[in-house]
Amino acid sequence: MAEQLYEAWVAAVREATDIVDVIGRYVALKRKGRNYWGLCPFHREKTPSFSVDPEQKLFYCFGCHTGGTVFTFLVQHEGREFREVVEMLAKDAGIPPMDRREDNPRQQEEKRLRSVLEWTLEYFLVHARESGAFAAYLDQRQIASTLRERFQLGYAPEQWEGLVQYLSRHGVAPDEMEQAGVVVRRRQGSGVVDRWRDRVMLPIWDPQGRLVGFGGRSLAKDQEPKYLNSPETALFRKSNLLYGSHWARAAWKRGERPLIVEGYFDVIACHQAGQTEAVATLGTSLTQWHARYLARFHQEVDMLYDQDNAGQEAMERAFAILSTAGVKVNVVVLPNGVKDPDECVTVLGADALNTSIKGRLPYLTYRINQSAADPEIGTPRGKAIAIERFKPLWKVVGDPVEQMGYLEQMAQRLRVNPSILAQSFGVWQDVRHTFGKNRHNMERTAQVPSHLASHAVRLLALLLRHPEQVPLVMDELQEWINEQGLETVLEDVAEGRATRDTARWIELLEPSVRTTVMEAVNYQGPDGGTLEIKDYISAITRQRQLQRWNRLKERVYQEGGMAPEVLEEVRVEQHRLSVAKSGNLSTSEQGKEGYYGAGKTRGTSN
Ligand SMILES: [Zn+2]
Repeated sequence: MAEQLYEAWVAAVREATDIVDVIGRYVALKRKGRNYWGLCPFHREKTPSFSVDPEQKLFYCFGCHTGGTVFTFLVQHEGREFREVVEMLAKDAGIPPMDRREDNPRQQEEKRLRSVLEWTLEYFLVHARESGAFAAYLDQRQIASTLRERFQLGYAPEQWEGLVQYLSRHGVAPDEMEQAGVVVRRRQGSGVVDRWRDRVMLPIWDPQGRLVGFGGRSLAKDQEPKYLNSPETALFRKSNLLYGSHWARAAWKRGERPLIVEGYFDVIACHQAGQTEAVATLGTSLTQWHARYLARFHQEVDMLYDQDNAGQEAMERAFAILSTAGVKVNVVVLPNGVKDPDECVTVLGADALNTSIKGRLPYLTYRINQSAADPEIGTPRGKAIAIERFKPLWKVVGDPVEQMGYLEQMAQRLRVNPSILAQSFGVWQDVRHTFGKNRHNMERTAQVPSHLASHAVRLLALLLRHPEQVPLVMDELQEWINEQGLETVLEDVAEGRATRDTARWIELLEPSVRTTVMEAVNYQGPDGGTLEIKDYISAITRQRQLQRWNRLKERVYQEGGMAPEVLEEVRVEQHRLSVAKSGNLSTSEQGKEGYYGAGKTRGTSN
C-alpha cells in the first residue's frame, strides 16, 4: 500500500513538472521539431546533441548516451538524492510531500542488508584482535594503528562456517546472508559457507560513508585470487564505487584535486602521507560513471598507477574516459625504482610521495617525455610510430589551444618539423571540417551511428521489441548478462515493466546500466528480429571464449610454463573453441537466409 502511494506521488510530480522548463535552468535549449536541443552538460561538446522530449518527458544525449527523466537529470547533475529531488519539484508544483515514515520496500530491504554487513564487519574486527598472522601482515606493511582504525581493517579467520554461525545468532537467514554477498552456496549439498577465509578484510563504503561490501586480501602466498571482493549486490555496484570516496569527498570539497591510485593499500598509503584525496577503483577499470562523478568535484585529476604495462594501459584508457567527461588528467611519477605509493611511503617516507604529487605532469606531456626518452625515437621509423600513437590521445584533448600546445611540445621534444607535424595531425583540415558541418549538425546527431553501438545496446534494443526472446538470451548468456549488470533490466523487459511505464522504469534503474538502456531505447537501427538476436548470442559467446583463451595464454606466458591444472584449463578452452568454430559454421549457413546475409562475422568487433 505504502509503495503504491509512493509510486502515485512520484508519477503525479513527474506529470505536473515541465521537463523543458527545469532542464532549461541548466542547459540553454532551442526547439527543433518535436524536441528541444542544447549542449550536453554531461560531456564536452561544441555542437548540441542533447535532446529533451517534452511529450515522453525524457532527455537523451546522442553523444554520450546519458538520459533519463527530469528527476534523474537532477540526481546526476546536482548530485542530490532521488527522494530529495522529487520533494523539491513537488513543492514547485504545489503537490504535498509524502510521509517519510512510509519507506518503500526497496529501502527496507537495503536497511536489512546494511545491518547484515555491519554484523559481518563486527565479526571481522573481533577476529582481527585475535589473529597473529593479521597483526604481522599489517606490521610488515607498516600501517599505523590510527589508520587500522580509520579503515576498520578486519580479519576473516580460516573457517568455513564461522561467519554463518555468527550471523545466525543475530537472526539472519541464509538467503539474507547471500543477498548481502558475505557467503556462498555450497557446491555440493545444501546451505552456505563463509565467502572469505584467512584474509585481511577491508570494508568498502559508498560516498555517503555507508558500508556496502568488502574486499579481502589473501594472507597465504599461494591463495588465489589475491583480492576477493563482495559480489554485485543491491548495495555493492563496483562500477559506481570508489574506495576511499567518503573521505576524499571532504578533501575535494576543500578544493583538493582527486588522486586516483590502483589499489586499496595505495589509498591507505596516501592517507599515511596525509593525502586523503586519494581513491581507487574496486579492481575494475575506470568507468564513465566514475569520470562523471569526479567531474562534479574538480576539472582536473591526478593519476598514480604502476609503471608496468598493465598500469600504463589502464591509465591510457582512463585518460580517454576522463577527457571525454571534460576532466583534465595529470600523471604523478614516483622516484625511480619505486613500484607504487605503498612502497614509496614505507621505503622512502611520506615526503617522497608528497613531492612526487607536486611534480605532476599533464598526461600528454608525460607521454611525450616517455617517447623522447625512448632510444627508438632517434630513427625516422621510431618517430613515425610514436607520432601515430599520439594521434588518438591528442584528439580527445578537444580544446584547440591546448592541442596546439601539445603539437609544439611534440615538435620540440621529438625533433620534428612543426609544420609537417601539424599537417600530419590534419590541423587545417579539421578546422574546415568543423565549420562546414556546423549547419547540418542537428540532423547528423539525430542519426545514431549504428556501428558504434555495442552488442549490449543492440541486443537490448531488439529485446525491447521482442520481449518473448528474453528467456532464450538469459539461458544462453547468463554469465555475460551478470557481468554487464543487465539481469534486472532483462527481467523487467520480460515482465513488461519496461514498456508499461517507461519513465518510472528508467528512474528505478541503476545509474551504471541506465546509459546502456537509454541508448537501446533510442536506438533506431533496423529490426532483424529473432534471427538477429541469435546472431548476437553466438557473436557474444565467441567473443567471451576468445577473451578467456587470451587470458589463459597471458597466464601461461607470465608463469613461464604450464602447471597441470592450467594445462587442463587449456584443454577445456581448446575444446570449447573448436565446438564454437563448428557452431559458427552452422550460423553462417543459417545466415544465408538470416539477417546478415552471408553471415559476416562481427564476433571480434567491439
Ligand atoms: Zn552528452
